[in-house]
Amino acid sequence: MEHEVESRNFIEQIIDKDLAEGHCKTVHTRFPPEPNGYLHIGHAKSIILNSGLAEQYNGKFNLRFDDTNPTKEKTEFVESIKADVEWLGANWEDRLFFASDYFDQMYEAAVKLIKKGKAYVSDLNAEQIREYRGTLTEPGKEDPYTGRSIEENLQLFEEMKNGKYQDGEKVLRARIDMSSPNINMRDPIIYRVAHMHHHNTGDKWCIYPMYDFAHPIEDAIEGITHSICTLEFEDHRPLYDWVVREVGYENPPKQIEFAKLYLTNVVTGKRYIKRLVEEGIVDGWDDPRLVSIAALRRRGFTPESIRKFVELCGISKSNSSVDYAMLEYCIREDLKMKKSRAMAVLDPIKVIIDNYPEGQVEELTIVNNMENDELGTHTVPFCRELYIDREDFMEEPPKKYFRMFPGNEVRLMQAYFVTCNSYVKDENGKVIEIHCTYDPESKGGNSPDGRKVKGTIHWVPAPYAKKAEIRLYENIVDEELGVYNEDGSLNLNPNSLTILKDCYVEPFAADAKAYDSFQFVRQGYFCVDAKDSTEEKLVFNRIVSLKSSYKLPTA
Ligand code: ATP
Ligand code: MG
Repeated sequence: MEHEVESRNFIEQIIDKDLAEGHCKTVHTRFPPEPNGYLHIGHAKSIILNSGLAEQYNGKFNLRFDDTNPTKEKTEFVESIKADVEWLGANWEDRLFFASDYFDQMYEAAVKLIKKGKAYVSDLNAEQIREYRGTLTEPGKEDPYTGRSIEENLQLFEEMKNGKYQDGEKVLRARIDMSSPNINMRDPIIYRVAHMHHHNTGDKWCIYPMYDFAHPIEDAIEGITHSICTLEFEDHRPLYDWVVREVGYENPPKQIEFAKLYLTNVVTGKRYIKRLVEEGIVDGWDDPRLVSIAALRRRGFTPESIRKFVELCGISKSNSSVDYAMLEYCIREDLKMKKSRAMAVLDPIKVIIDNYPEGQVEELTIVNNMENDELGTHTVPFCRELYIDREDFMEEPPKKYFRMFPGNEVRLMQAYFVTCNSYVKDENGKVIEIHCTYDPESKGGNSPDGRKVKGTIHWVPAPYAKKAEIRLYENIVDEELGVYNEDGSLNLNPNSLTILKDCYVEPFAADAKAYDSFQFVRQGYFCVDAKDSTEEKLVFNRIVSLKSSYKLPTA
């Protein structure tokens, strides 16, 4: 017997303890994206984790744009991020913030540090600062400008703000410890001169705070109790704590790190995706082959499937990577009970039922979902001319082939038994037409006399079916030969996109709108492409095939 043990992950344990010991009353978390690209599945983990904790503890959750670096940030990204976070179901209510709204407070905090003797202006250039910083094995050297007086530093910093200096000419450094074993603590730069236009503050500022200085201040201003971030910031935590302490915040936030989510053989890095987008190799950040949230949504993933996936991945302190098949498992499981079946033919061959009366049409009933009665039924017209999939016919079948071939009787799903009598080929030897006879006694696909047919195939009624384009996807990179080439570029899979232009769907799916999805019988789950599908030309994306040998890892 399996027992459901309620196990608390390490972050919940920390929060439980903080609450029990009175370190905080209300849990307050945030998701702090930098608006320099689209969010991906890894960010989904952070969003779901942070908003989920707030919900679980009846706390609050902020969405805050960490927009302290104007070079790469764009309003387009702000909008896409908002849409993605909302779609995932994380609710920030009225708590949408921008780090840039706190630039005044950050400036004041820097002035405060200068007045306390905890920060100084340096004229070293970037290269010199690197040299002075030392290495993991050697301590750093004192900055020659460390001795400047408080008055001089105040004046220089103000001049930096007023635009007196060029980019890189002066920086403000925290005065901490040049011989600290932690390089982050060797007088880190906290402000730099950068004459750049900012998407939010325009040209108001020509100095910008560095991330390690800005981030703790943002958290503290918003009253964040638990600042949850990924492992690469573990070594920055002493600096985080130093900033909130020296600037003098009461009830400072606590930083907690967890491991990033990686997918095996799947590209998530913004750097790579940006290149694929810019080189036109993919159709934008939402190309269904990518794992950006926008791409997953366009492909037909649901927020529930992504939440389930994140939950199955769990929270950990050590980096590891998860199989894409687990994500597919989650979407399959989610759609299984929710979606209706429809018949679609991806590579059509015409079938003519010679003994079916010309002009006759019957409405046959299809149960939408065998496992969920609530989805009801729909009808499909049956008539003399149909399409079936080329895969379901062979002129000379091997053993154990039970689908259509000359002389063999098969079941047309939910319709009738038919037997293939002959077929017609074009001048290239391609089969273009199959002639069958049907057994009128087998209506509904039921055997009239106990005789058995082994194969059941799907079909669509030729005059009533709607033409559609169907897109099939594989990994954008070649996982077998390796994701990266020797020069660091991506090793692209030439078969990552297959476009089938001559498909047919039954009338039930003919009016489908953007994001509608179906189980196409025997083919998988498909979603109407929100970007390219129109009323005249339906376009479906295959979300996932129906079956996989994938087994969930057991804990
Ligand atoms: P990338 O370089 O992959 O786009 P990033 O860390 O530069 O990611 P940010 O916008 O700075 O992107 O990240 C916002 C938040 O999302 C941060 O708190 C970061 O730790 C978290 N995050 C980023 N990538 C992952 C991931 N793969 N798994 C979990 N959390 C992540
Ligand atoms: Mg970043």
